[in-house]
Amino acid sequence: MLKTYSYNQLDQAKIQELTNRNTDPNNAIQDTVSGIINEVRTHGDAALKSYAAQFDKVELEKLYLDASDIEELAMGISRDQMRALEIAFQNIHKFHSYQTKRERTVETMPGVSCWRELRPIEKVGLYIPGGSAVLPSTLLMLGIPARIAGCKEIVVCSPPQNNGKINGFVAYCLKLLRIERVYLVGGAQAVAAMAFGTESIPKVNKIFGPGNQFVTKAKSLIQGITDVAIDMPAGPSEVLVIADESANPAYIAADLLAQAEHGIDSQAVLATSSTSIAAQVNEELSKQLAILPRKELAARALDNSYIVVCDDLISCMNFSNAYAPEHLIIESDQWKSLVNKVQNAGSVFLGHLTPESAGDYASGTNHTLPTSGYARSYSGVSVDSFVKKITFQHITEQGLEQIGSTVEILAELEGLQAHKNAVSIRKKA
Ligand code: NAD
Repeated sequence: MLKTYSYNQLDQAKIQELTNRNTDPNNAIQDTVSGIINEVRTHGDAALKSYAAQFDKVELEKLYLDASDIEELAMGISRDQMRALEIAFQNIHKFHSYQTKRERTVETMPGVSCWRELRPIEKVGLYIPGGSAVLPSTLLMLGIPARIAGCKEIVVCSPPQNNGKINGFVAYCLKLLRIERVYLVGGAQAVAAMAFGTESIPKVNKIFGPGNQFVTKAKSLIQGITDVAIDMPAGPSEVLVIADESANPAYIAADLLAQAEHGIDSQAVLATSSTSIAAQVNEELSKQLAILPRKELAARALDNSYIVVCDDLISCMNFSNAYAPEHLIIESDQWKSLVNKVQNAGSVFLGHLTPESAGDYASGTNHTLPTSGYARSYSGVSVDSFVKKITFQHITEQGLEQIGSTVEILAELEGLQAHKNAVSIRKKA
């Protein structure tokens, strides 16, 4: 049974409490992660091997697998599985390849031309989660835009499995992406390794990828102490479903559970304008949960989840915008009228036949998305995340005449004489 709240009776403080996802209130995770970062920084590969033994229960001689190992592992999966990964690859590639449009050159004044050009970030690090579930889909979601952007060096880290390898699905995705090495490192230590570099693992310019609380905390900490950027805080998954009477409670329950099975710190929220839907979803949840292989994990995530009953769909949307979900599903015949009211969300799924799982794997959109309320200010991963946009300008003689005096006056009023001279000296020539 999910806890149920009535939107009408929630004051601002309660809404704030419900929409807050601070999962490290006592800084316990921060302390652990700081320790791991220091160890990796100081002891490099030796620390990584020791953490593999401690957390992944595996003794590693070397910290990576190369093309021949990857090939062998990839060939162990079935033809149907290869085909499914290939279709996902094609759709994600198709959607992301439209994100590289060149911008126009703009003449701001006659003879003053400005434009932007894209350049790939040279060295990128991709974290592929592999703790409680192995996520080859994440490799496609990060590797495809990195390839489209033209990044020169793509470093991939993923936790080793019990046998000291990666699974065949991740290996097949590496093959599709033409990536010939994978580092067997997980958690905060993988983030630290890519941020500082170790004997085996190259330092990168930007780190991408979702992960559990240790991974997410490590990404936010290294940002402050290195020159390495991160994509965004993409932590434990969450979904918010908006539903009215037209929705199917079994579909809603399935969508909530799809999120809950990620991990105990995942969250699934239903905002509905119907008390009857709320009751039926609770019944469906018990039925569907009972037969899930990951029911223990999902049940614990549901303890941390809830329903908000609202007067109408607009109030549901207001609650959703306050929550800023990573995934928003709108299960209503009225979905078209709600699209322009979505203010804060990572990725949105519209209508009764658009499960969030489609976007997780294969429809084409990216599944690496901002969590924990960061959808208020961050976008999900796209080709943009793998490029820099550099501005260029060119000024002609006519342009210098047009703009020169404006720059001179502004430089003077800021008291920067050398700035003014850089223009005046050219005007005299
Ligand atoms: P993971 O790869 O993120 O983490 C596994 C690693 O965590 C282990 O290798 C270990 O090194 C480390 N670890 C485990 N226990 C630890 C401890 N006590 N102390 C220090 N380190 C420890 O895999 P996961 O745990 O399965 O988590 C994957 C997460 O990614 C889930 O929370 C899922 O919701 C999230 N996810 C988010 C998105 C998104 O876009 N936001 C997408 C996919 C998945």
